[in-house]
Amino acid sequence: MEIIHKQKSCYEIFKDELNKIDSFAKEYINFLNNCKTERETVKWIEDRLIERDISSDSSKSIFYRKFKDKSIIVVRRGKRLLKQGTRIIGAHLDSPRLDFKQHPIYENTYLAMVKTHYYGGIRKHQWFSIPLAIHGVVVKIDGTKVNIKIGEDPKDPVFVIPDLLPHLAYKQNDKKLSKAFEAEKMNAIIGSMPYLEEEEVEDKIKFAVLSILSQKYSITEEDLYSAELQFVPAYQAKFVGLDNSLIGGYGQDDRICVFCGVKSFLDQEVPEYTQVLVGWDKEEIGSEGATSARSRFIEYVLEEIIDIWGENCHLSEVFLNTKAISADVHAALDPDYQDLHDKLNASKLGYGPVFCKFTGHRGKVGANDANAEYIAFLRHKLNKKNIPWQMAELGKVDEGGGGTVAKFLARYGMDIIDFGPGILGMHSPYEISSKYDLYATYLAYREFYK
Ligand code: MN
Ligand code: MN
Repeated sequence: MEIIHKQKSCYEIFKDELNKIDSFAKEYINFLNNCKTERETVKWIEDRLIERDISSDSSKSIFYRKFKDKSIIVVRRGKRLLKQGTRIIGAHLDSPRLDFKQHPIYENTYLAMVKTHYYGGIRKHQWFSIPLAIHGVVVKIDGTKVNIKIGEDPKDPVFVIPDLLPHLAYKQNDKKLSKAFEAEKMNAIIGSMPYLEEEEVEDKIKFAVLSILSQKYSITEEDLYSAELQFVPAYQAKFVGLDNSLIGGYGQDDRICVFCGVKSFLDQEVPEYTQVLVGWDKEEIGSEGATSARSRFIEYVLEEIIDIWGENCHLSEVFLNTKAISADVHAALDPDYQDLHDKLNASKLGYGPVFCKFTGHRGKVGANDANAEYIAFLRHKLNKKNIPWQMAELGKVDEGGGGTVAKFLARYGMDIIDFGPGILGMHSPYEISSKYDLYATYLAYREFYK
């Protein structure tokens, strides 16, 4: 019996598996570049399922339900009865970004601009003077859906919110950071060339931009009211560091957990317990709305399978015996801001996925606080297979805080804990993860499902 707990790093445990880790990481990088919105991520998951002949046909032992193209649940029937519970891994598909306002395009001075309303917890100053891409859908009055993605192809233009030049920023520099950058000044440039053909048109630059949209996508200004358009960083995900050990990219909170969840789900045999994989939307704005973790979507799907599989049990039995992972990222110890972490209880990149027993803020307010019994169960499972993991909290007590979907699932009485890799620069346009943690998270989720 080891009296003292010695934490092992992924580097020691995986030293002979570098090739496997590299190819897994490359696939992940490719996934990040293809999935920058919740809709794109749902589509990517659906495509992976279809590749494996998994459909929405619920007469099969494995099938999926998609909800409004922004949320998805996949289930695989286990050998045991449903009333003995399920194994759920749930991650969120949305990431912080800049949404178009409903009246977005206007002309000011000599430019055409787009008004934005930020989505989720961003640090505003990080979004100025960086290349942005437009992703989203426009739904026309006849119901036709136009998918838009501009700024990802090397031939595409990008969009920019220009930052103030230092020469004129003296006053801004003296302001508090929370006051220095105003949301209403986060307007992106979308054009500058006037439309010269028509004398009568008032805003010639705005008109020129709308003409391009109309030519390219057959949409009008009114169509933009029934649209979900988002500015996301146009950056490509890449390896970071001379040793290629880290991964930089947008939206890793929480798509790193989505990716590991999907990969681990697809790698399963017929399991003991029914497996459920969930991708939710709207986590970054408090899990409100029909496609969020607070919606009844998961209840509907479980009620449906109780019915289809002809099991005579209550939904409450299924929930009460379920074990779940709230698959979400954690804040890794930042070398420049170590003072904000309690180092003894901080997570380190390269040491495996992080159990976060509770989230919340100031005295655990608003937290799911996972049961000790459940943590022992999970520790046992991972240690048996020598899969690295760590135990941490987000930062020093009273320094800040946050929440995840865990508490919304805990209400059903299931066992649940937050468990996912650490990230540096979380919610920034270019988040950093470790390819070792990525791989360890996948192994850990796979083991959990077994
Ligand atoms: Mn998250
Ligand atoms: Mn987040």
